[in-house]
Amino acid sequence: MTNLSKPLRKILAQNFNIIWPEIREIKESSDGTVKFLLSLEDEKLIETVLIPEKDHYTLCLSSQVGCALACTFCSTGQMGFKRNMLSHEIAAQILVAQDYLARAATAQKKNTPGHLTNLVFMGMGEPLLNWKEVKKALQIINHPLGLNFSRRKITLSTVGIKGVLQEFGQSKLALLAVSLHAPTQELRQKIMPKAARWDLKELVSVLADYPLPRRERITIEYVLLGGVNDRPEHARQLVRLLSRVKCKINLIAYNPGPNSKYSAPEKKDILKFEQILWSKGMTAILRKSKGQDISAACGQLIINSTF
Ligand code: SAH
Repeated sequence: MTNLSKPLRKILAQNFNIIWPEIREIKESSDGTVKFLLSLEDEKLIETVLIPEKDHYTLCLSSQVGCALACTFCSTGQMGFKRNMLSHEIAAQILVAQDYLARAATAQKKNTPGHLTNLVFMGMGEPLLNWKEVKKALQIINHPLGLNFSRRKITLSTVGIKGVLQEFGQSKLALLAVSLHAPTQELRQKIMPKAARWDLKELVSVLADYPLPRRERITIEYVLLGGVNDRPEHARQLVRLLSRVKCKINLIAYNPGPNSKYSAPEKKDILKFEQILWSKGMTAILRKSKGQDISAACGQLIINSTF
């Protein structure tokens, strides 16, 4: 950086580092989804997933190495918790993906779905259990002099952490998605015991009072586990539970991982579930699963010897 003065260069060298995570491996799915295996400074490994949409890309970011919550249907939970990621490590996932896209565009000269515009905190880890670093990362990501992403294109997904959820809402740094997955406390406790330590009724009452700009809604994520939470009665209970929450529901068909103990829901049950929600005036969509053939879909991120 010889265009900077010597004293300034000295200050920069003494106070700052430019460190990128190292790409260990890249896997490409037949549907265009790309999964990166990244190595951090201490050799800890994380995964980041780049998802092509119609006219843009979405990047699925990790926020922790592993996860402490051990939800029974999620592969990341099987890894256990290794450590929190630091803000620069979280933000650097975006730089890696942008660099990859820029190189791909020059190398192939073919039409790509445009730019990376959307970010979701839906990779490894529970972002609100690492709020301090995630918040700093979001500030960098949002800032016009930083990565300059629009707040409305960033979604943070969480199981809901008491106290921190409210703080996140006040920060207005990103949109909120909540991994609910069950319409009763009893069932939630069975399938996500640690997350369910915060009582479902209390969580839902915080969501009902959640500060939302006009026209914005909370996304409720609901993984359909065959025979477990995909019955018509569950759909009806869900409608009642969420009657006071301004939300839309994202249904996700269960993606099996290694040592799966659940099965995917049947097509007819998914449709019935969706239809009940619609008939009661709720907005529900089935999230299309991408990257399954490279284990990059929701809940399939896990670091093991096969990547
Ligand atoms: N810990 C945060 C961030 C991870 S988001 C959270 O739970 O919200 C990952 C999303 O994928 C969550 O909604 C999660 O519940 C869902 N998921 C986990 N395992 C899954 C699986 N096997 N099939 C489909 N979705 C899954």
